Amino acid sequence: ALPIVAIIGRPNVGKSTLMNRLAQVQDAIVYDEPGVTRDRLYKRAFWRDREFLVVDTGGLVFGDDTEFLPLIRQQAMTALAESTAAIFVVDGQQGLNGADEEIAQWLREQSVPVLLAVNKCESVDQGMAQAAEFWSLGLGEPYAVSGIHGNGTGDLLDTLIEHL
Ligand code: GDP
Ligand code: MG
Repeated sequence: ALPIVAIIGRPNVGKSTLMNRLAQVQDAIVYDEPGVTRDRLYKRAFWRDREFLVVDTGGLVFGDDTEFLPLIRQQAMTALAESTAAIFVVDGQQGLNGADEEIAQWLREQSVPVLLAVNKCESVDQGMAQAAEFWSLGLGEPYAVSGIHGNGTGDLLDTLIEHL
């Protein structure tokens, strides 16, 4: 079986965009697992000599903050259970967010290696500055990336495949 990489983060940070960027192939295979998770979307990805699946943990949007974190954690938990590694996506333009800190705290307790992707960093110089504050999440080096433009994803993928 191919290793699975879960894409985790709160809504609108750019998980789906980054996933499509990492998967690279437009006609990527979509795997449905009825009964496991609704809208579970898997795509094949390749980097250097490695092939793996990326799974989006869903684009559900919740209006109520009290419902929000438990549901994201639940989605993440289900995805993480079958994953070899995870990419935790945060929004570099919005900056550090309380919800990110709570998700990070939970992720630090898991045994799956987590890479921190600070998305929406289109400008490399600004991106470094935007990413720096996310060191405080305690998940190691924050990788400044842009799912839209693609910058930074090579470094992220180089580290990712070391964990697969
Ligand atoms: P998701 O809810 O986490 O899956 O986020 P989406 O991938 O649906 O993106 C949410 C919003 O952020 C959309 O309006 C995207 O166009 C925007 N977005 C995603 N990636 C980037 C990025 O790298 N840079 C910028 N500037 N916007 C982005
Ligand atoms: Mg999405």
